[in-house]
Amino acid sequence: MSKEIPYKIYLEESEMPKQWYNLRADMKNKPAPLLNPETLQPMTKEELSAIFCEELAAQELDETNPYIDIPQEIADFYKMYRPAPLVRAYCLEKKLQTPAKIYYKFEGNNTSGSHKLNSAIAQAYYAKKQGLKGVTTETGAGQWGTALSMACSYFELDCKVYMVKLSYEQKPFRREVMRTYGASVTPSPSMETKVGRKILADHPGTGGSLGCAISEAVEKASETEGYRYVLGSVLNQVMLHQTIIGLETKAALDKYDVTPDIIIGCAGGGSNLGGLIAPFMGEKIRGEKDYRFIAVEPATCPSLTRGKFAYDYCDTGMVCPLAKMYTLGSNYMPAPTHAGGLRYHGMSPILSQLYADGLMEAVTVNQTEVFAAAEEFARVEGILPAPESSHAIKVAIDEAMKCKETGEEKTIVFGLTGTGYFDMFAYERFHDGKMVDYVPTEEDLAKGFARIPKLDL
Ligand SMILES: *Cc1c(COP(=O)(O)O)cnc(C)c1O
Repeated sequence: MSKEIPYKIYLEESEMPKQWYNLRADMKNKPAPLLNPETLQPMTKEELSAIFCEELAAQELDETNPYIDIPQEIADFYKMYRPAPLVRAYCLEKKLQTPAKIYYKFEGNNTSGSHKLNSAIAQAYYAKKQGLKGVTTETGAGQWGTALSMACSYFELDCKVYMVKLSYEQKPFRREVMRTYGASVTPSPSMETKVGRKILADHPGTGGSLGCAISEAVEKASETEGYRYVLGSVLNQVMLHQTIIGLETKAALDKYDVTPDIIIGCAGGGSNLGGLIAPFMGEKIRGEKDYRFIAVEPATCPSLTRGKFAYDYCDTGMVCPLAKMYTLGSNYMPAPTHAGGLRYHGMSPILSQLYADGLMEAVTVNQTEVFAAAEEFARVEGILPAPESSHAIKVAIDEAMKCKETGEEKTIVFGLTGTGYFDMFAYERFHDGKMVDYVPTEEDLAKGFARIPKLDL
């Protein structure tokens, strides 16, 4: 007997997850450890604690505890904007005339406009608890910087954001949102750091990159007393915090006895996708249930689908630890015409391992089809999606259309990670017919691959 499914499924406060789920505890092949860039030995807790605060360093290394309690202070903050609704996309289904049942988990219901607040608040909490003064970070499009600014102002911590220069200039409103929450925002590369000065000397006039902003933020944190560096994606700790997305999704579906067939998410550094699929992937690994998982990446930045699975630097400046991941090389830059976000050169080591083990699929999509899907979605479901999220929309629609051909009533769940109000220049280019697609050639990729260190491990 199936119950009538409401348009939005919410959880009661009492049904909210009280713990994060640490998928690594159930993974048979654990993700490879981070390596110290100088010694090439696995990073120890002490070494990690020089970069991250202690509890986060412990979470980074923990591959045995399947559940980790969400501290009450974080749970209280989550109540301000969670549970995030799980929406049955009835209107989209009707428009597509598909027998598929489509659900999306909407993470855009907070001022940062994305899921990133889920980890920002956790990272700010642990920094505060350790008695730190402040944190540094980088931001590209600005969602992470905004989320972190909100989290830091809540716990009264200083927040110093290095924002990729091009975004700093193109997205002045994002910058002002961060300053509204008390953050200081510096365009990167800057003259404030050694690595910034070096990059500026080598590439005068550069618009910057995420990898370069990371190097600056790490340097600043390591040279400022009472500061630590925090990162919004890629790391194990970030994916751990983001499992709140998947745990809520699963609890909401379980309430109505719904089992998804396919779970889809966009993949930049992998945190939303990893968080969304984690509890379902756990069931798959333990042999309890089977699901299809699909990571969607932009054709211009195809780390899973065309990258190499190797130890590589996480940042352009090569000061951060090395991670074993699918990578395009730490100097890889997507074509300048790329507008859809998801431009990081690597991928979460956890997702990389799952992909290498054949537990997850990955596909690429072109940006014009992504924006077409975004527009189609906005017109029927009302929400104006972030370009990043729209990668998942595109593939969810594709899968629903396959069901239309075969008549299969599959249940599809995708992550709608955020809203696109700050991406209207990109939408404008799409509407004016000026957006172009670019698929990197083997030659383009070879330049990045040449930068991947050849380690004899
Ligand atoms: C940052 C961001 C992403 C990509 O990051 P992941 O770590 O891969 O999840 C996707 N969508 C939105 C809205 C974002 O802000």
